[in-house]
Amino acid sequence: LSFSSCNLQQRLLQNIEAAGYDMPMPVQMQAIPAAMIGKSLLVSADTGSGKTASFLVPVISHCANFRLEHLPKQKKPLAMVLTPTRELCIQVEEQAKLLGKGLPFKTALVVGGDAMAGQVYRIQQGVELIVGTPGRLIDLLVKHDVELDDIMMFVLDEVDCMLQRGFRDQVMQIFRALSQPQILMFSATISQEVEKMAASMAKDIAVVSV
Ligand code: AMP
Repeated sequence: LSFSSCNLQQRLLQNIEAAGYDMPMPVQMQAIPAAMIGKSLLVSADTGSGKTASFLVPVISHCANFRLEHLPKQKKPLAMVLTPTRELCIQVEEQAKLLGKGLPFKTALVVGGDAMAGQVYRIQQGVELIVGTPGRLIDLLVKHDVELDDIMMFVLDEVDCMLQRGFRDQVMQIFRALSQPQILMFSATISQEVEKMAASMAKDIAVVSV
């Protein structure tokens, strides 16, 4: 399998090439084609496996396609990535910007440590992807500063770590604000608790291990 056989926009393929990704890594070979056809996935993948691109490529592709077909007056976010830490969010957003260059694909960071007003303003200008930590997202959600009803892809990165940090209830609260999105869950270890959370979000979730 190659990136060019994944039904991606020409510009996205160019960005992948410019990033120096010649061949998909094993987790990408498994996750990208399945995510592209709308499947919900629970993927066991470590840091360094290429997991970030394995969710960003389908997220960027879907978001850009959707925007080319629908032009609402008020753009609401179409995808959301949750990670356990501010640092990881920053890394994910950087990679998203790189891979999404030249496409109708804007991102917003929603993490603690920065002023909330700036993050809210950015979202209200119209973004396709939100990358955030559960705590700050809940803050925005309870203040009705972010509308999540157009979210069609919900990515949970390092789920085991999020559970260890006690984010379970916050993650579920965010999930309940969404309307049946595709779920892409990534975890280094697939514990019973991770499986339980996956099953509660999507009954038909497919397990991918590399
Ligand atoms: P991750 O596991 O997502 O943290 O990715 C680990 C590193 O692999 C990152 O520096 C990525 O930029 C890089 N990477 C991701 N996909 C590929 C690929 N297909 N070929 C080469 N490097 C890649």
